[in-house]
Amino acid sequence: MIPYGKQSISQQDIDAVVNVLSSDWLTQGPQVPAFEKSLTDVTGATYALAVNSATSALHIACLALKLSQGDILWTSPITFVASANCALYCGASVDFVDIDPATYNLSVNELRKKLEKAKIEKKLPKVLVAVHLCGQPCDMKAIRSLSIEYNFKVIEDASHAIGGHYLNKPVGACEFSDITVFSFHPVKIVTTAEGGAALTNSKSLAEKMDLYRSHGITRDEALMENPSHGGWYYEQITLGFNYRMTELQAALGLSQMQRLSNFVATRHQLAARYYEKLANLPITLPYQLPETYSGLHLFVIRLDIEKLSKTYKQVFDELRRGGLGVNLHYIPVHLQPYYQKMGFKPGDYPHAEAYYTNAISIPMFHGMTYEQQDEVIAKLKAILEC
Ligand SMILES: *Cc1c(COP(=O)(O)O)cnc(C)c1O
Repeated sequence: MIPYGKQSISQQDIDAVVNVLSSDWLTQGPQVPAFEKSLTDVTGATYALAVNSATSALHIACLALKLSQGDILWTSPITFVASANCALYCGASVDFVDIDPATYNLSVNELRKKLEKAKIEKKLPKVLVAVHLCGQPCDMKAIRSLSIEYNFKVIEDASHAIGGHYLNKPVGACEFSDITVFSFHPVKIVTTAEGGAALTNSKSLAEKMDLYRSHGITRDEALMENPSHGGWYYEQITLGFNYRMTELQAALGLSQMQRLSNFVATRHQLAARYYEKLANLPITLPYQLPETYSGLHLFVIRLDIEKLSKTYKQVFDELRRGGLGVNLHYIPVHLQPYYQKMGFKPGDYPHAEAYYTNAISIPMFHGMTYEQQDEVIAKLKAILEC
């Protein structure tokens, strides 16, 4: 099976992890801050906090932005459930903004319309999670100006987008957002096995997220409520979690970060071959926005079902039977049973639902050979041309 995505592990990555095993620290040592520094170096953000998943990063980001009961978080329905669940963890509620049919990211026009309506109904969001689907950055400049006009905070869910650029700045620079989140799950661009990070330019948000990732405990006297009792002293000043990343994971991440631009460049080379060789099939190839450089986590094609004599499911099953680990990213979150129980229903977000009828993520990963890619192309042609 040729998977849709797969990690790339070098001997250097293996050595980095093995070295940690014989070092003094398996957790809370020097690797985590070194990995965090590699993230701020690459993105230009001032602070990076490594955690055990992007889901945890989204949670502490929402907490730091004071999202709580009675508040509303908006996001795209075409995302992984974690982009929305983070609101529920904080006792807040979720609402969605339909996608742009060209980019599959949340539509800024829909956002503007929904904000105008929400203002009248007094249901404005406190936080917007802008998901850079497939690695393609959202229109952050427009989102930022709406966030100023309507007074909401912005989290970039850049789980797909590390290594990408928006208006010549790296994704993660947080120029148009409060916090940016990355995922380091193995299918993503850079991996730490499980892992994530939250980046920000705000000292106070960074301090808050640092507390939330480790029990709400501080050893920083400047943050304590009482004078220190001595060298053993720490204070719990809020309720936090254990969301820490281990040294093993951080060493892997630090080693992987050295290949980041190479990882993304390879994806662009593979994508260019797909654009060329799939051009005449009854499918829509991904639209790439000008002035952005996608991280290209995913390569999503959309079947032109009307030109095919097969259903979506038939095509999908034939691809899987043909040894291609194709997938669908994502089932619209509002259609998940858990969300339908909150009142969301089919028909709520037509563009997201249309996407769900015809989108397929085809294999693309660092380490994919041109032979493997040609096999994908040949299978697609055989299945879609008849
Ligand atoms: C993978 C992913 C997440 C969650 O990442 P984890 O590190 O697995 O918690 C969140 N949002 C998006 C868009 C993702 O793709």
